[in-house]
Amino acid sequence: MAKVIAVNAGSSSLKFKLFEMPEEKVICSGIADRIGHEDAIFAIKPANGEKNETICNIPDHTIAVEMLLEALVDEGIVASLNEIKGIGHRIVQGGAYFSHSEELNDRTEKLIEELIPLAPLHNAAHLIGFRAFKKALPNVRQIAVFDTAFHQTMEPQDYLYACPMEYYEKYKVRRYGAHGTSHMYLAQCAQSYLKKGQNKIITCHIGSGASLCAIKDCKCVATSMGLTPLAGIMMGTRTGDIDPSVMPYLVKQTGKSAEEIYQEFNKKSGLLGISGISNDTRDVEKAALEGDERANLAIKLYARRVADYIGQYYVRLGGCDLIVFSAGVGENSPYFRKAMIDEVKEALHIELNDEANNTMVRGKEGIISSKDSAIPVVVIPTDEEVMIARDIVSILKLK
Ligand code: AMP
Repeated sequence: MAKVIAVNAGSSSLKFKLFEMPEEKVICSGIADRIGHEDAIFAIKPANGEKNETICNIPDHTIAVEMLLEALVDEGIVASLNEIKGIGHRIVQGGAYFSHSEELNDRTEKLIEELIPLAPLHNAAHLIGFRAFKKALPNVRQIAVFDTAFHQTMEPQDYLYACPMEYYEKYKVRRYGAHGTSHMYLAQCAQSYLKKGQNKIITCHIGSGASLCAIKDCKCVATSMGLTPLAGIMMGTRTGDIDPSVMPYLVKQTGKSAEEIYQEFNKKSGLLGISGISNDTRDVEKAALEGDERANLAIKLYARRVADYIGQYYVRLGGCDLIVFSAGVGENSPYFRKAMIDEVKEALHIELNDEANNTMVRGKEGIISSKDSAIPVVVIPTDEEVMIARDIVSILKLK
């Protein structure tokens, strides 16, 4: 038995989950949020216990990691820090260097650093998290799990942009995708829903960030996010695919800088931008049910963008044996799932079972399509952290 920590470090936050492996038992989870602020939040919650939350000064990630390790001992979650045998970090951008998770060492650290221009906020923050743990637990080995790794099996026709080739060669501009750890987890779980000889899946990770993936034989064939997570379907606050000419046009018309417009594409668009209400599907859904026209339009637009990709991937895969919904919206909103399936049902002969759709929420897994549906539709709650924990065990060869 070994205890391992799955870490997701952002620029001002550090989320963690402590597992007992190989049982895959979650022992506790928590977050240090608003790092860098005097009124930062530190919260830790044992799997079967009460959440313990404090507001305090957390100047940097090193202090956040020290607090986390102290809390594990103080709260009696571990008897000693020697029990921790491995740490795994979610890394947003692995570029073309990483098609699998790897141990963090001088070489891999340098490569992740080299990729910072492709994911400035994320990769820099992940490295800060790694170094903070290295300082606190110098003898514990650490691994990197890349959000892009699963998508490295795409062919050039799927990952290249049709811009001058030198931008790919010199600056590595191409589609990398994201949410790879989630899509891989879903593909593995989905195998149990496939009949003999079936191998084509479309996974829909629909959360506040959202992406689709076309998967054949458990390998990624195509995915909707691009160089960055801004591409693909419309999301909570992101535009998704948009004509690049909109950018220079708006710069000219509004007098705003390209960076300001870019921030708006990332943070003020999507469901929030169209509905004018919220980026949270719960709020938009409620408003739509109360007759708000823009909320209703936002949902219709969202559903159609998802349908566009399902149609595209149906063609790309040469058919589809299973559609999977997951993440915050995909796991919890029967309303959105129905809106999305309504857009493809005529072409693909998909029928939802309304009762199953309405009950498959809050962590439940199961089929939501009817027996007559040409393609089964299933809800599978995703679990990126357990994938990180599994990779820690296999890469570090823990027993
Ligand atoms: P994620 O990024 O996967 O954590 O998803 C978060 C998003 O899921 C939220 O912003 C909401 O839009 C959506 N969500 C979470 N819970 C529900 C729910 N019960 N009903 C509808 N949407 C939900």
